[in-house]
Amino acid sequence: MRIITHSCPACGTVIAANELEDNRVMKCPGLDCQEVLRFDDLPEDAREHFLEHRDRYQI
Ligand SMILES: [Zn+2]
Repeated sequence: MRIITHSCPACGTVIAANELEDNRVMKCPGLDCQEVLRFDDLPEDAREHFLEHRDRYQI
């Protein structure tokens, strides 16, 4: 299974795509990081792949 993650551009914290998809917009979980991360920040091909196979990404 392809692992889809997004790295915060400010601090490098890695967030799983399913967390982003649940929240759509979320504050970076990194310590002292105020960056706001969006599911839409993922590359289009990664979003499409995730949405096609989202049942497999549920924890
Ligand atoms: Zn961050």
